[in-house]
Amino acid sequence: MTVWPEYPTIHRQTGLHVDADHEAPMLTEHQDRCPYCGETISLLVDCSDGAQTYIEDCEVCCRPIQVRFSVTEAGELQSVDLFSETDVI
Ligand SMILES: [Zn+2]
Repeated sequence: MTVWPEYPTIHRQTGLHVDADHEAPMLTEHQDRCPYCGETISLLVDCSDGAQTYIEDCEVCCRPIQVRFSVTEAGELQSVDLFSETDVI
């Protein structure tokens, strides 16, 4: 079952102030398709450090996927893009 958070519909003016007492990484599960094999894979994205690009091996075909994601000012996952190793991002 895919759990995909709704895009926030309320623009929080105070969203820049993020509560500092959460020490655990803000992991958000995201499901997308591998750019190599096309299988649906599950990613755990850490939103606590803002937008990032990193490499994660596909759990099906084990090839390195470039994962790029962005985070809202409230620290919620905004968008995720997956690229193959040969894509220039
Ligand atoms: Zn794959």
